[in-house]
Amino acid sequence: MNRAEIVKGAQQRWRPATQMVHGGTRRSGFGETSEAIFLTQGFVYDSAEAAEARFKGDEEGFIYSRYANPTVDMFEKRMCLLEGAEDARATASGMAAVAASIACQARAGDHIVAGRALFGSCRWVVETLMPRYGVECTLVDGRDIAAWKRAVRPKTKVFFLESPTNPTLELCDIAAIAELAHDNGARLIVDNVFATPLWQQPLRLGADIVVYSATKHIDGQGRCLGGVVLAEKQWIDDNLHDYFRHTGPGMSPFNAWVMLKGLESLTLRVERQTTSAAAIADHLAGCRGVSRVLYPGRDDHPQADLARAQMGAGSTLVAFELAGGKAAAFAFENALQLVRISNNLGDAKSLVTHPATTTHKNLSAEARAELGISDGLVRLSVGLEAVEDLIEDIERAVAAARASQ
Ligand SMILES: *Cc1c(COP(=O)(O)O)cnc(C)c1O
Repeated sequence: MNRAEIVKGAQQRWRPATQMVHGGTRRSGFGETSEAIFLTQGFVYDSAEAAEARFKGDEEGFIYSRYANPTVDMFEKRMCLLEGAEDARATASGMAAVAASIACQARAGDHIVAGRALFGSCRWVVETLMPRYGVECTLVDGRDIAAWKRAVRPKTKVFFLESPTNPTLELCDIAAIAELAHDNGARLIVDNVFATPLWQQPLRLGADIVVYSATKHIDGQGRCLGGVVLAEKQWIDDNLHDYFRHTGPGMSPFNAWVMLKGLESLTLRVERQTTSAAAIADHLAGCRGVSRVLYPGRDDHPQADLARAQMGAGSTLVAFELAGGKAAAFAFENALQLVRISNNLGDAKSLVTHPATTTHKNLSAEARAELGISDGLVRLSVGLEAVEDLIEDIERAVAAARASQ
């Protein structure tokens, strides 16, 4: 074996933290240490024959950055190593990934079953956009396997879910739902943003396609939007490949470079954010004025057994309910000095959201009630600050919420 083969063999055995620093790296002739940004739209050919061979697929190489780009390719390969996926396509945003993963395989007359607790824009795609093209959708309580079963029709082609869900951190049993999908000739897409690739591997649990908003933990520092779709090579070849090339949702090389740098510190960040989130959840559970804490890593989570079975750890997010409804939630947010008010998540900076008046304001009151989004519910995305500072800030704000009553 030559050195390249030996190194390749070793690479396959590397653990995730190592893969995230080295996986997928492809150096140019300059031998640069850090991945290069190939900020180019196109590529040149040495001859007319070379151009012909490239287009015919007889010769490996890049053609146009809407199809593929060396920096984007490195990001896709590194994500494949993390997820245990055969192939991937990086997209301009998480929503581009979600929309492409559904639209590329659904045809008029097909049917989608989706867990109803979805990120707002995901819900719009399945509930409003796809029906315009003749693809119907049934939303179910994602926790209830019997509900998934009842919703299946002969033309059901796609199952779609998030787990943990936004914002109430409910779980869906990925292995059971994947089995049900396969029994009915459908494919399961999992939006794995809230779990992060570190704590949950949907493909290993039986899902067919995984999608991420790389905007969240993968960048992790609040800079670029991005997304990625991961699946078997055959599924990508048969479904996503042409859709992706001809509709152009791809990620820019610059953003792919930012995401590659984000991946280098992903395991460190997510481990630290999860440890802090678990400590904050425990602290909140003992606070007067907090009526409920929702955290998949706690024993009092309604699906604690499922959390242990399919997740490696809780999450970097904590949801909790303040006694006193909207007034208490607003008093809490306004009293925070360190945690910032924002609808984003997965950032190095801790961020707090009041879902009922922001991310989920477009849902009817009944739909919100169905999802457990009360007026006192607050969602906290835990960042990289010292956990003691976060707890002090949160403790003071809970006291302010109590005083507002
Ligand atoms: C943020 C998010 C998305 C959308 O990602 P963008 O990068 O903002 O387009 C989709 N699903 C979940 C669960 C998210 O948190």
